[in-house]
Amino acid sequence: MGTTNDNVHDAIIIGGSFSGLSAALALARARMRVLVIDASEPCNARVPHAHNLLTHDGEPPHLIHAKARADVERYPTVSWSDRRVVHATGTDVAFVVRTGDGVEHRGSKLLLALGVRDALPAIPGFAECWGISAAACPFCHGYEVRDRPIAVFGNGPEGVEYVRLLRQWSHDLTLLTNGPTTFDQAASDLLRAWAVPVEEAPIAAVHHDDGQVHHVQLANGRSVPAEAIFAKLPTSVTLGFAAGLGCALTDQGLLQVDPMQRTTVPGVFASGDCASPMRSLSMAIATGGMAASAIVHALVGKG
Ligand SMILES: Cc1cc2nc3c(=O)[nH]c(=O)nc-3n(C[C@H](O)[C@H](O)[C@H](O)COP(=O)(O)OP(=O)(O)OC[C@H]3O[C@@H](n4cnc5c(N)ncnc54)[C@H](O)[C@@H]3O)c2cc1C
Repeated sequence: MGTTNDNVHDAIIIGGSFSGLSAALALARARMRVLVIDASEPCNARVPHAHNLLTHDGEPPHLIHAKARADVERYPTVSWSDRRVVHATGTDVAFVVRTGDGVEHRGSKLLLALGVRDALPAIPGFAECWGISAAACPFCHGYEVRDRPIAVFGNGPEGVEYVRLLRQWSHDLTLLTNGPTTFDQAASDLLRAWAVPVEEAPIAAVHHDDGQVHHVQLANGRSVPAEAIFAKLPTSVTLGFAAGLGCALTDQGLLQVDPMQRTTVPGVFASGDCASPMRSLSMAIATGGMAASAIVHALVGKG
């Protein structure tokens, strides 16, 4: 049998990583009563060094997060639950959120700052390298492997465009299509002109030392030396617990929001990766701040 937390929070934030924390800070400073609920599984959990965040370039993301959480927890109107939300329901100004321990929390507004899940390929060794020497974003992790040998996982026109972008960081690229190529002759010609070898054989394994890749083994016995892997992976938002709220999704499966981070459901806001195809710490922080502003305007009767 569950229990009910009798406090009615002005806002409940589901997801207390970079975007949720950014919103919580702005809401706390607007003197709102905020509950942050976080299952502590951010997408960059295995990343040793984050980049492209002013004043934090090269810092471990968990340390940036810990500092941010300490900033937020200094405010007396913020409370925190290290739990997973398993159910969310209600309508504007009367939402009820239940955590895995059966406790129900009530709030006037909801912010979904859930992040996304990356669907890692079932290739032995890949998961161990993800975040350490395998990543999706060259803006975040390309500089450290500039001019070094890089394996690019991709196929089709998108794979070729990915190679075009990655050439900004290294010309020592090998495109691994993990099966027959699905791009046209013009794309093949382009890859040849760039001197980028294409390997069509299925990928058998990623060989690494503690997550640092040294070569990729193909099923045909060939071996591709690499110091990094770049792979754009499918992502998804885990929204089953809030299905009843009825928030619309974009064609990419992200939460649909307007420029103020309002979803299609009154009183429900979304920020960070779950509501933006542009994944970065700075974007997650910016959209969290925007959502907080929208929530405050709504609560004071102007939104
Ligand atoms: C491998 C990798 C490397 C990256 N490197 C960089 C980099 O160097 N620089 C950069 O700018 N960006 C980088 N990024 C992107 C950056 O990490 C994300 O854009 C950022 O973490 C998004 O923040 P977020 O708060 O939206 O989501 P996340 O950080 O993913 O956090 C979401 C949080 O919500 C919680 N949550 C989800 N569902 C529930 C629920 N039902 N109940 C309770 N809690 C829930 C999760 O447990 C998690 O703590 C990287 C991403 C990856 C995958």
